[in-house]
Amino acid sequence: MPVKATLLLVEDSVAQGGELKESLEALGYTVRWARSGMAGLKIAREEYPDLIVLDVIMEDMDGFAVCRWLKMHSTTRDIPVIMLTARGELRDRVEGLHVGADDYIAKPFAPEELEARIFAALRVKASQSELKQRNSQLESMLHHVEALAITDPLTGLFNRRRLTDVLRREWAVAKRYKNHLAFIMIDIDHFKQFNDTHGHEAGDLVLKEVARSFGACLREVDLAARYGGEEFAILLPQTSKQGALVLAERLRESVRALDLLVSDERVTVTASFGVASEADVPKGGPEDLIRAADGALYTAKHNGRDQIVAADVAPEGPPSG
Ligand code: GH3
Ligand code: MG
Ligand code: MG
Ligand code: MG
Repeated sequence: MPVKATLLLVEDSVAQGGELKESLEALGYTVRWARSGMAGLKIAREEYPDLIVLDVIMEDMDGFAVCRWLKMHSTTRDIPVIMLTARGELRDRVEGLHVGADDYIAKPFAPEELEARIFAALRVKASQSELKQRNSQLESMLHHVEALAITDPLTGLFNRRRLTDVLRREWAVAKRYKNHLAFIMIDIDHFKQFNDTHGHEAGDLVLKEVARSFGACLREVDLAARYGGEEFAILLPQTSKQGALVLAERLRESVRALDLLVSDERVTVTASFGVASEADVPKGGPEDLIRAADGALYTAKHNGRDQIVAADVAPEGPPSG
């Protein structure tokens, strides 16, 4: 709770206002005094006081109208308002609460009572804003944790978990709308040897650069992920196998074209690619699509690496284990 809270007093009576200002200042509050409803709104908007003590009966604009305006606008909505109602009329009190006042006090009142109500309102506000702050901290932590849970920290690509989640969803969409869905599995060639020769740190640099080179070749709806150590996967919604093969060739060339400087030495890498699409696994599910691309990748490795192999259409019959 602020020790020296700033209060805005909106009171058109010079006598009552002056007296009130003095007694509130004696309690240690900083007091801004507006002598009309309009002047009160202006100060509330510009200075954002901690609390407003608002007279009901005023010439230009009554306290209800002022309060309604304050509670309608986001900049002033959170400022607690205590209304000074005339003679404690029930109608005034009800109306005051109705337009959003946080509390009211009937004239004439003992200064101790107003002091107690101000103190209580400030306490409520302080705990509310603390709660708000805690909530927004929690929210941003949650965002951060969620992002971490689906991101590969080294490359910034999505991780395998995210990829399989999205694949499952895209698979269902593709089946439902009879769309194409292609999948490319990629593995860097002789990467163990690369690490052994140039060191693990240089290896990490390669993984980052390969990931970055993919980004430039993909569309917004494509999803690139780090599938495992030096393996990447790319999911291509609404893309046929032919389309995926064209893209794979572009990816293969972009990996080959990487010109990396490792302790003053220029080094290059290559990768092998397996490409499959939904048409290759007419009876299967999303896992079979991955399996088909993986099988094609294996063939690409076997055939000499730095190349692209397309999956064969799975023979009709019961799915194999
Ligand atoms: P192939 O052409 O058959 O794929 O040979 P390879 O050496 O690439 O395949 P292998 O599976 O034998 O080795 C993979 C290597 O990838 C071994 C491992 O040290 C390396 N690796 C995996 N994850 C990382 C990583 O995060 N950073 C680095 N620097 N290396 C990694
Ligand atoms: Mg008045
Ligand atoms: Mg591998
Ligand atoms: Mg490899």
